[in-house]
Amino acid sequence: MAQLCLSLTENTLAENLKLLRKNRPYIDCCELRIDYLHEEEYPSLYTFPEQVDLPVVCTLRRYEEGGAFKGSARRYSEILLSALRGPFQFVDLDAKVSVPEIEAQCTGKNITIIRSRHFVLELPANGADVLEKLPRGAREIPKLACQLQGTEDLFRLARIGRNSRHTKQIIIGMGAFGVPTRLLPVWCNSMLSYATAGPVPAAPGHLDPRKMTETFRFKQITKNTDVFGIIGNPVLHSRSPYIHNPGFARQKLDAVYIPFPTDDPQFFLRYAGEFNVKGLSVTVPHKESAARIVELHDEAVRDIGSCNTLTWDDKEGEWKAYNTDYSGFMAPLKAFCREHGKRISKGTVIGAGGAARAVVYALVKAKVEVCIINRTSDKAQRLAEQYGIFWSGMNEEGLRLAQDHRDLIVQTTSAGMKGSDCDDPWPDYRFSGDELVYEIVYTPVYTPFLIRAQKAGCSVLTGDMMLQKQGEEQFFLFTGKQLNIEEEYSKEELL
Ligand code: NAP
Repeated sequence: MAQLCLSLTENTLAENLKLLRKNRPYIDCCELRIDYLHEEEYPSLYTFPEQVDLPVVCTLRRYEEGGAFKGSARRYSEILLSALRGPFQFVDLDAKVSVPEIEAQCTGKNITIIRSRHFVLELPANGADVLEKLPRGAREIPKLACQLQGTEDLFRLARIGRNSRHTKQIIIGMGAFGVPTRLLPVWCNSMLSYATAGPVPAAPGHLDPRKMTETFRFKQITKNTDVFGIIGNPVLHSRSPYIHNPGFARQKLDAVYIPFPTDDPQFFLRYAGEFNVKGLSVTVPHKESAARIVELHDEAVRDIGSCNTLTWDDKEGEWKAYNTDYSGFMAPLKAFCREHGKRISKGTVIGAGGAARAVVYALVKAKVEVCIINRTSDKAQRLAEQYGIFWSGMNEEGLRLAQDHRDLIVQTTSAGMKGSDCDDPWPDYRFSGDELVYEIVYTPVYTPFLIRAQKAGCSVLTGDMMLQKQGEEQFFLFTGKQLNIEEEYSKEELL
């Protein structure tokens, strides 16, 4: 099982100690990043390991290798020699710098050398060869860290790790595409993964150690663990890990759910077994392409033309695609109508993207007379023509149509979502107050559009309800087990 190392990037030893104590329950060792410390701290570096009850790696990362140290090779050597008077267990030595005095000191004091190369721009073509040649002695641990540019790089780096002859090594994929190497080091044959808890991530893609342990079940993961995850780009913000991982824990399943930032879904699906992936959520922008790539799918996927769930059939050796967005969307709506004795005859869907396709499908199937309003009117037209329903751009005609289809207004655009540069997709639409308004954006739960609807007196349904319902159904497809998020999860767990 891989160990979790906390990189300490504060400016003083005292601050680092504070950070370490706070995160002590989640980690196995720590790395003192000297390059982030104020120079006044240098004379006391050797005292640091004595104050800590776990192994410490001593690291002075040079600027060229992604660190903050800009001094000469001589200064590099001086600082490390002075630090290594203390009882450090490991020192991370930059393979590009020749430091015979430090090597001698390490031999004398039984300090293990981590011989590292950091490729801050890309995974080099000769990455396997670089890793092979890194250690200069039998006791040295080679470390290869590379910025990954996409899905192919992720699999290439993991294969380099798995095919290497070293029994102990550290393999890290930096950047968003490298996150799976940090969460699943076992599939790269890496003995260590790094985390940062301070304000400055020690390297791109570092995660918080508490999150890695509590949410991503880092300490339980072995090669037997079933891996689930979400493919999309970007995807690190996804709330789905907060649904599935606590579900696995409650059901006592040896499984984990992680984000897989993906720029090539076809490549990912072909080789996902190399990370023991058994099931996937699919999000923007791959929902439609995944539905095309996977041949086996249910009726909803065929009709909607997009999927948000994939399960791997071990026996048949193939993926199966489902769409739980459509049923997840309908569940809260049906519950509301039952509870309030409301009947929806006519509805307006704002947006014509992937989510809108599932929403329109669900409403048409439920015999609601639907119209589609979208910023880009020909996209609205294309979707509407599939069902023979009304459509318009966001203009006078659209306002008239929406007024006439206002039992239910569904907001399916990404406007209002955290990070979006637009708050309200359709400020010209004035609520009458008698609409039921269903927002499917879930970060934030109350978008400016929804707040405007509430102020006008409308009843509202929020996107987190849909997220939870589609998540419950997805969990069932992944595991065959039922989850009741509303009853079983606390608010803190989900947000
Ligand atoms: P998508 O395929 O990229 O479609 C985006 C839609 O938003 C398009 O219709 C686009 O219009 C419209 N849009 C974007 N910016 C706009 C703006 N500034 N003003 C007006 N319209 C704008 O995305 P998607 O997959 O449909 O996802 C949309 C949202 O639904 C996301 O926030 C996603 O997180 C959310 N979602 C929630 C759930 C849930 O479980 N609650 C499930 C799925 C999706 P154009 O055609 O003119 O570009």
